[in-house]
Amino acid sequence: TGSVIIVGAGHAGFQLAASLRQAGFAERIALINDEGHLPYQRPPLSKAYLKGTGGPETLMFRPDKFYQDNEIELITDRAHAIDRNARKVALASGASLDYGHLVFATGARNRLLDIPNARLDAVRYLRILDESQALRDLIAPGMRVVVIGAGFIGLEFAATARAKGLEVDVVELASRVMARAVTAEISEFSQSRHSAAGIRIHLGVQVTAIEADGGKVTGVSLSNGTHIPADLVVVGVGVLPNVELAAEAGLPVASGIIVDEHLLTADPNVSAIGDCALYTSKRFGGSLRLESVQNATDHARCVASRLTGKTEVYDGLPWFWSDQGPDKLQMAGLTTGYDRVVVRGDRAQGAFSAFCYRGDKLLGIESVNRAGDHMFGRRLLGAGGSITPEQAADASFDLKSALS
Ligand code: FAD
Repeated sequence: TGSVIIVGAGHAGFQLAASLRQAGFAERIALINDEGHLPYQRPPLSKAYLKGTGGPETLMFRPDKFYQDNEIELITDRAHAIDRNARKVALASGASLDYGHLVFATGARNRLLDIPNARLDAVRYLRILDESQALRDLIAPGMRVVVIGAGFIGLEFAATARAKGLEVDVVELASRVMARAVTAEISEFSQSRHSAAGIRIHLGVQVTAIEADGGKVTGVSLSNGTHIPADLVVVGVGVLPNVELAAEAGLPVASGIIVDEHLLTADPNVSAIGDCALYTSKRFGGSLRLESVQNATDHARCVASRLTGKTEVYDGLPWFWSDQGPDKLQMAGLTTGYDRVVVRGDRAQGAFSAFCYRGDKLLGIESVNRAGDHMFGRRLLGAGGSITPEQAADASFDLKSALS
């Protein structure tokens, strides 16, 4: 294989470097990292880290020594251009690296809001450690924040901000929260919990402008004519995959860097993994680009196996979680295309799961405070199994019996 150069040191890039060494890969590994921190975990940025008092070191996957001990070169720089014929990566600093195999693990970046005053200092995003740190230092009891977007990150931030005593409004264009990701059952439950915590949720409306006075944010205007006063605006309207470097190198890209079922691009010396990769899924029969820790780390392990001689088709089962206030949401499988939902557990008690079916086939399970159902779903769906809608609905049916 020769040297493996990994562009991006997030969940995917870090895991690939670690898994390669674990599998006995003996050649050069360089991890190009354009953030000024050791590789770190992203999920806590909108959860525990934002809420807590721990320092950045609490987020790191491994201390500095790990990279030295494992001879993983952590290069703080930015990959600037790829020459695929010469197999070279040019870095922003002017240096250049030769590769045997190149891996794009470039992730995604915030989609920026394009409305009046969106560039003011009090309009913030939440993707990287520096942004989370800045928000943590900024938010204080009594402050009024408008969150734009009721996706996972927007709602996680909203719950934390509310718990810290801020006045919180969430504005969402869709007719329910997390509409792209979860069933209506989960959306409705989540909305009721956030409302009960004192968060005001505005659905089916758009923020048309941010209002300011002398550079200071004073509020937002909505498409229905409403005005919400605010000191701070936090935007969570999705991400754009970082595909430009691959595209400029002449590799096919669409809504991600296009890779096959082995996570290989059109160039046999170049792979792409994690949030930036649009991969061919054998399991789901189509192209998928997912944004999750599971996807990033399982992709990394698959490529590490291939580069150390064990080529296998990528077949990870998608799963995801989100912590919002006191509630833990967990998803196993992909529920796209479901036509029937069976609820198991007790919605009123705040612990239930939505089993999503297409016909009689179980596609996925979305759980709220039901970790057992989630783990069951990961094992069952991972093995290609199913249970009937009647069994899912029957509280006396023993899920474990379906696993044997
Ligand atoms: P990233 O983690 O985005 O890493 C890519 C890295 O590459 C970045 O550091 C980027 O700066 C760098 N890079 C890009 N271009 C270059 C270049 N040219 N040169 C050098 N470096 C470059 N997922 C879950 O499963 N559960 C959760 O609860 C959850 N919570 C989340 C909360 C937040 C606030 C965020 C932002 C994400 C969350 N996610 C969660 C999603 C998860 O973090 C991502 O799916 C995961 O980080 C993807 O890993 P990645 O390595 O593909 O990309």
